[in-house]
Amino acid sequence: MVCFCFLVDQTRKVKRSKPVAGTCSRCGHCASIADMKTSTRFCFIPIYWKSWRAVVCSFCGSVLKSYR
Ligand SMILES: [Zn+2]
Repeated sequence: MVCFCFLVDQTRKVKRSKPVAGTCSRCGHCASIADMKTSTRFCFIPIYWKSWRAVVCSFCGSVLKSYR
């Protein structure tokens, strides 16, 4: 019998961030530019990750602009 474990989760970590000019379109708080790291895990084993840079809101965390 095969036990099919379908457990995928994604974690987003901010490695470092610094304030940048601009405000969030959602809540109006200050925006900051952040180096992000997204990792996708399957059954708690990291299978894929990428680093990217984005302008995010320091308050609500929404991504305002992303760079590749
Ligand atoms: Zn916001």
